[in-house]
Amino acid sequence: MQRVTFRSLAYYQFEALIPGTVHGMFTRLGGHSRPPWASLNTGGSVGDDPAAVEANHRLTCQALGLDVEDLVSCVQVHGAEVGVVDERDRGTARPGTDALITAAPGLWLMLRFADCTPVLLHDPVRRVVGLAHGGWRGIAAGVARKTVEAMRDAYGCRPADLIAGVGPAIGPCCYEVGEDVAEAIGQAFPAAPSLLSPRANGRWHLDLWSAARLQLARVGVRQVHVARVCTACHTKEWYSHRAERGRTGRHAVLIGLEK
Ligand SMILES: [Zn+2]
Repeated sequence: MQRVTFRSLAYYQFEALIPGTVHGMFTRLGGHSRPPWASLNTGGSVGDDPAAVEANHRLTCQALGLDVEDLVSCVQVHGAEVGVVDERDRGTARPGTDALITAAPGLWLMLRFADCTPVLLHDPVRRVVGLAHGGWRGIAAGVARKTVEAMRDAYGCRPADLIAGVGPAIGPCCYEVGEDVAEAIGQAFPAAPSLLSPRANGRWHLDLWSAARLQLARVGVRQVHVARVCTACHTKEWYSHRAERGRTGRHAVLIGLEK
């Protein structure tokens, strides 16, 4: 990844996704929100001042040279529903959805994160982008796979042509889960025991980064770049629901096709 700064903002990009897309994985730095949301919070339902959240959206768009009216987002529910969006969806948030795909240049997909895995997708052949939000529930429900399948079904994308990025998310170092989560992941990935490491306390550490990568690989995506940055280890730059005990904001990830 490369780190880019714009005024006091900082965001990351996958080098492999730069040709053909405009994208950014925004850190929490440089925005208007106060603690515990400080400072570039884009989550509208976490208790933060709506004026600060709106100003943060504008700043985020400015950093990438985009118009805030051209964003499309989701009301995320930790599911695996994929929205296929075009110009008519400008300025809207798709309810009950955790992934978006589009072939419309100049339309910007935006999702919000605090530990969950951002999955960015680009098909440079068919000129299509996708963005998914995957916590353990979404990944167990197949959100990364379903996003690729939706790109194939809606636009004829071939998974082998896709370039994928798995962005900053809670890492195997910090993501302790109980028996229920371990069981759901075990069922979703029956032949991948390495995703779960047993702890002495009877709980497990889950490797969500590898789960997302594996799910993409199994659906035929060959180029998967993994950030390997843990949000819970790096709360100076990222929001972490786990490390901050639920009292925190949401960082934004955006992607769209270059006009
Ligand atoms: Zn960590």
